[in-house]
Amino acid sequence: MQPYSTAVYIASGTGLHRLSGLYLAHGHGTKTMKSSNPAIQAKLAELRAHYHQTLPRQLRELRALWDTATAGRGNADALRDFVRHCHSLAGSGTTFGFPAITRIAQNMETLLRPQLDVEPLPMEDLGGKLATFLDELEEAAREKPLTESSAPEPLPPPRPPDKQLIYVTSENERLRDELKSRLKQYRYDLQAMTTMDALVDAVNDTPSSVVIVDIDMPGLERIVALHDSVRISGARLPTIVVSEENSLEQRLRAVRTAAADIFFAMPVDTTQLVDAIDSLGEYQDVEPYRVLIIDDDQPLAQFIAITLEQAGMRTHVVQDLEQVLNAIESFSPEILLTDVYMPDYTGVELAAIIRQHAGYIGFPIVFVSTETNIEKQLSAMSHGADDFISKPIVTDHLIATVANRVERFRRLNSLMVRDGLTGLLNQTATRECLETEINRAQRSELPFCYAMLDIDHFKSVNDKYGHATGDFILKTLARTLSHRLRRLDCIGRYGGEEFAVVMPNTLIEDGLSVLNFICKEFAETEHEFNGQKLKCSFSAGLAQFPEFETVASIHDAADRALYAAKHKGRNCVCTERPCFSK
Ligand code: GH3
Ligand code: MG
Ligand code: MG
Repeated sequence: MQPYSTAVYIASGTGLHRLSGLYLAHGHGTKTMKSSNPAIQAKLAELRAHYHQTLPRQLRELRALWDTATAGRGNADALRDFVRHCHSLAGSGTTFGFPAITRIAQNMETLLRPQLDVEPLPMEDLGGKLATFLDELEEAAREKPLTESSAPEPLPPPRPPDKQLIYVTSENERLRDELKSRLKQYRYDLQAMTTMDALVDAVNDTPSSVVIVDIDMPGLERIVALHDSVRISGARLPTIVVSEENSLEQRLRAVRTAAADIFFAMPVDTTQLVDAIDSLGEYQDVEPYRVLIIDDDQPLAQFIAITLEQAGMRTHVVQDLEQVLNAIESFSPEILLTDVYMPDYTGVELAAIIRQHAGYIGFPIVFVSTETNIEKQLSAMSHGADDFISKPIVTDHLIATVANRVERFRRLNSLMVRDGLTGLLNQTATRECLETEINRAQRSELPFCYAMLDIDHFKSVNDKYGHATGDFILKTLARTLSHRLRRLDCIGRYGGEEFAVVMPNTLIEDGLSVLNFICKEFAETEHEFNGQKLKCSFSAGLAQFPEFETVASIHDAADRALYAAKHKGRNCVCTERPCFSK
């Protein structure tokens, strides 16, 4: 349990409701779904059943369209519609268990697309062939659907649990206690054990994100087999080996015997250890990918959505152009999957519209289409798409393409929006975050808090201990804020030794109690760097929306409050209301 609790607020018809103790409940509202989830399996089965059920009607409509398209002198619009229907059937058939439908519909489309602008239709050629195809389609629809094709392979859960689980194994009580005390203020669930048997059981039961093992553990080599057994189910088991003795021999032994990822000699540098754990556990990047899906074929769009959700992503399906633009604003997708041929606009046109916004130049757009002609794919890609996924959809390919694209997008983005020293948001990104939060708070009518923090007498830290120590303190405060605040809070380095925090859905009393806690804890911590020991504090100022409702006014208010905190003697938090002492 966290040593303090405060509240989050949710909106309801009757106003604000307080949910005590949820402030640090990370990851709420994110969907991390596994394929074993019966609800998802049921939803997929339902989609397949629905498709199966509606197939005869779709085929009747298709026949009627063909009749209209070919009646009298022919009807070009109806023919266009007919080809579009074939296209859509080709895209969805296999996905819902009817590969023959896909094959036949593809043949129909291939045959008819070149005839779209030909008048009159060469019916003596086409009439017989189309009649046969339509009969074959009906026959294929009467077959029993294949069910396994559309069920995605089970995937390992793509991200660690909210509170990172770490197993520490050592016979040495002093070493276990030291690690515990050093890591206690970070967001880890540290579980200590004294035998390799206990470690193996624990990992097999619930794999941790990182294992820390004492190099003197009897049976240390068993860790290698453990690596392999865990890898089979898809996860890695990063290992840190700690040793009382810092020698090349011990380092070599750690690699040879335990296949250690990282070696630490005691006493460990806490910041380095936390850095190592976070990088090994890939703890930094745990937000589910956000995918926007556009397809005029609703069941197929749903199928894509469910498949991706099953792999732990969040999805949003839309259809008309206005909705697409709204969703880009409100859902902030990290990738767009769009059909190419749609009745009202094409994927290429949509990509062009999105690329008109300077902010979306690097935004991944992927076409999902039955187009198999490589030249046409390349031509579509030269018009603004980054990749092509072919229908019928191969689920593994879909998941891998989306994951790779978003991963890359995130990496590029983070280079642009992150501060190099602390890894926090830079000033521009922090201001953007504040602006987004103001817009959201205005829509939802929920309060939020904004805080400015500034390290006390930082110039004298630099003067007395050197710039490198100063940098170390900046990184430590950044790390403390990231671990102590919620994932949904935005934390930025505003400049030099100034930080800014946006806390959504938070009242000022709650923001104040959280910051007071962090302020006290930080001031009491003895930092150690290059053999030097020092203490350091910060002051903070806090303001609340809706009392201040523009970027400039809330920033100025928090800055005034920070000034008041400095004036009051530093190492404290003030609000734009009268000062509270700790
Ligand atoms: P106060 O309590 O009033 O805030 O005093 P202060 O000394 O912290 O404030 P001042 O603004 O006078 O000094 C800020 C110092 O922060 C000066 C600058 O050299 C240092 N600083 C700014 N950026 C960095 C950085 O990236 N690394 C290090 N080590 N120091 C930095
Ligand atoms: Mg300062
Ligand atoms: Mg300053």
